[in-house]
Amino acid sequence: MSCLYIIPTPIGNLKDITLRALDVLKEVDVILAEDTRTTNKLLKHFEITTKTKAYHQHNEHLITSKVIHEITNSENGFAIVSDAGTPGISDPGYLLIRECVKNDIKIISLPGPTAFVPALTQSGFPCDRFLFEGFLPHKKGRKKKLEILKEEKRTIILYESPHRILKLLKELNEHLGSNRLVSVSRELTKVYEETLIGTANELVEKFSNQKPKGEFVVVIDALKMN
Ligand code: SAM
Repeated sequence: MSCLYIIPTPIGNLKDITLRALDVLKEVDVILAEDTRTTNKLLKHFEITTKTKAYHQHNEHLITSKVIHEITNSENGFAIVSDAGTPGISDPGYLLIRECVKNDIKIISLPGPTAFVPALTQSGFPCDRFLFEGFLPHKKGRKKKLEILKEEKRTIILYESPHRILKLLKELNEHLGSNRLVSVSRELTKVYEETLIGTANELVEKFSNQKPKGEFVVVIDALKMN
């Protein structure tokens, strides 16, 4: 069947893979993987022997039309996975999915792990409406984006690496004001999972004393609406 399955994979805890994801990964002809080594480890753990093929930001522009052709001619469809979480969410996938839509290839997107949802729901900040910004630009456009976010009234979600978390918290303090509460979740679903809530400045102090480790989701409280 000409079909692309979007398959979320665990962001730490392997038990978060769904039964349905395992079934699909076993049944498809090929699994497109951001990093085949990472995915092959996951597949080995679940004793899945499906063939993998590299599909990532460095080759997606070159191979997408060939992959579309292969999916169209496949018997059991293809799956796409990223290293962790949901493909397309700050990860490769968008380009292929867009081309599948254009080419009338059926897409079946499975629900499953993604880092921003647990970070948001456990922050205690409003989650009826929110803005997901993913990673801020590293250099060009970063300041401008922070100034735009200053006006945003909804809860804001950002992704950040351990190398830049301290810089980001300092910038949030500078651009969004010193009273706005921030929730920082790291190592979600893992043994050392931790969520800290405070003003950006309080969190700067915390991470200045303790080297930031793991991957981070930063959730910024909504502004009270009158
Ligand atoms: N596709 C993934 C998803 O659905 O969440 C996101 C991939 S993006 C390249 C990686 C970023 O996601 C990390 O830098 C971090 O901000 C966030 N992230 C992924 N796993 C995480 C975890 N276990 N704990 C906290 N943040 C995590």
